[in-house]
Amino acid sequence: MKFAIQSRNDELSNKLMDEAIEYLTDFGLIYDEVKPEIVLSIGGDGTLLHAFHKYQHRLKETAFVGIHTGHLGFYADWIPSEIEKLVISISRKEFEVIEYPLLEVTINYQHMDQSATYLALNESTVKSPEVTLVMDVELNNSHFERFRGDGLCMSTPSGSTAYNKALGGAIIHPSLPAMQLTEMASINNRVFRTVGAPLVLPAHHRCVLTPVKGPDFMVTVDHLQLLHKDVKSIQYRVSDEKVRFARFRTFPFWKRVSDSFIDSDE
Ligand code: NAD
Repeated sequence: MKFAIQSRNDELSNKLMDEAIEYLTDFGLIYDEVKPEIVLSIGGDGTLLHAFHKYQHRLKETAFVGIHTGHLGFYADWIPSEIEKLVISISRKEFEVIEYPLLEVTINYQHMDQSATYLALNESTVKSPEVTLVMDVELNNSHFERFRGDGLCMSTPSGSTAYNKALGGAIIHPSLPAMQLTEMASINNRVFRTVGAPLVLPAHHRCVLTPVKGPDFMVTVDHLQLLHKDVKSIQYRVSDEKVRFARFRTFPFWKRVSDSFIDSDE
C-alpha cells in the first residue's frame, strides 16, 4: 500500500512523521506523495484540511487519518503514543472506511461565462470586503430572502462543529448528506428582514447567492480565502463526492462532540 504524510511542520509533528515513515516502510508500505492510498495527517484539524485539499483530486482512491499533536481534533483524533498501533493496523489493512459529505461551491463570474468550482470539507463563507454584504438568497430557483449583514456561511455536517457552531448553527451528524446556511450578524429591523435561523438543506437542493451590491467578495473554502472579482453568483450544493476516513476503532461522533466541547473526563 502507498502512503503519504502531511505534517503541521512543528518539531513534534515532524518527529512523528519521521517515525511513521520509518515504521510504515519497515512494514513494506511505500511512501508516495503523488498517489497515496492512505494519508496520515499529523498536527491538528487545520493540517487535515490541508491534506484534504492537497489530495482532493483523488478522493475515491485516498483515505485520511488524523493524529493530533495539540488538542483533540474533530478530524485528528489519534494521539502520538498510539502511532505504533496505528502503523500495525494500517500495514495489516485492519480498518474500515467511513465517508462524510462535502460541499460543492461554484462561483460564476460576470465575464465570458467563466466559473470556478471548489470542494469544502468544513464550510464556505462569503463576506463583502468593505461594505455590508447584500445578497439575494435563492433556494431551488425560488427567491427566499434578501440578506444584509456581515456574511453567510454554508457548512458541511462534519464542519458543523467548526465556524458554523460559532455562528449558532446546529451540530449535524456526518451520516446526513446535508448542508447548513448560517447568518453572520444579519440586519433585521422594520425595513430589512431575514429568516434569522440556520437552514439545513438536503442533498439535491441548491442555494444560489446573487450579489445586490458588489461585485467583489471574500470567499473562503475551509482555510483558503480569496477575493473574487466580478462575481455573478455563488452556488452551493451537497457534492456528489465524499471524503473517506480510515476508521481503526469506534469513536462515535457524539462522543467526540462531548469530549471536545463539554468534558473529556466523563
Ligand atoms: P485552525 O487550524 O487554527 O482551526 C481553527 C480551529 O477550528 C481549531 O481549533 C480547529 O481544531 C477547529 N476546527 C477545524 N475544523 C473543525 C471541525 N470540523 N470541527 C470542530 N473544530 C474544528 O485554523 P485553520 O487551519 O485556518 O482552519 C480553518 C477552519 O477554522 C475553518 O474551516 C473554520 O471552520 C474555522 N474557523 C472558525 C472560526 C470561528 O469559530 N469563529 C472563524 C474562522 C475560521
